[in-house]
Amino acid sequence: MFKENYHTHMRLCRHAKGDIKDYVEEAIRLGFHSLGISDHGPISNPGFRRMTIDEFYKIYVPEFMECKKRYQNQIKLFLGLEIEYIYGNDSYYKEVLKSLDYLILGCHYYSGYKQMDDTSSFLCNTKERLEEYVKLIEDALATKYFKILAHPDIFLGGYPRWDEYSASAARRIVLACIKNNVYLECNCNGFSKNQKDFGGIKDYMYPNKEFFKIVSEYEDIKVIVSSDAHNPEDLDKNLDKGYQMLNELNIHPIENPLEVKND
Ligand SMILES: [Zn+2]
Ligand SMILES: [Zn+2]
Repeated sequence: MFKENYHTHMRLCRHAKGDIKDYVEEAIRLGFHSLGISDHGPISNPGFRRMTIDEFYKIYVPEFMECKKRYQNQIKLFLGLEIEYIYGNDSYYKEVLKSLDYLILGCHYYSGYKQMDDTSSFLCNTKERLEEYVKLIEDALATKYFKILAHPDIFLGGYPRWDEYSASAARRIVLACIKNNVYLECNCNGFSKNQKDFGGIKDYMYPNKEFFKIVSEYEDIKVIVSSDAHNPEDLDKNLDKGYQMLNELNIHPIENPLEVKND
């Protein structure tokens, strides 16, 4: 198990706990060599409860910079955001990237046009909606704004069974990551959610074993393991389960994704 985590939330998203400092101190206590903070990004869209752009500049970035300075001899720190992709907002992503080390693409909504509750990825339950979800990921990753694709298998929160369409979706997502040099995440936060019956196969919605079986067929895919912690005490929660699942599938995760040159 690598001593690192790059998908970490904090209080500004309104559904996580803790300041950046609390996560940094927990990471040091756990002996981590590096930590990436990636709270949910500011997107002004109805239905979203995220940090505001004002909080991003006035609280999020300065709070991180203070930690980076204070703990520089103890841990390597990176600042990111987990964010949706919305078509036509390119200047916005470029602007926030000026203050960040990385962006994580998190498609919590399957539509890049109308990202509201009724397009939650947990409602991605038809092959047409799945097509929208996959196309959104392909288009988003092609912009090169994103270094990591979070919970690529989150569509299985909505999709009812494992079939030829979900298999094809998995292949297209893996290929989009390979093509654009994006790390594919095994998101261990999903181990805390209930399992679901996929037409006879009981499994987690994410990280989903059938999905990662397909991932294992591709030699060039770069996989990382994250806790997606929403509480400082969960920083390493279930990471061991993620590494174990990948190990069983003979997938070798990548260490230090932000320190190796990703191109
Ligand atoms: Zn969250
Ligand atoms: Zn997250």
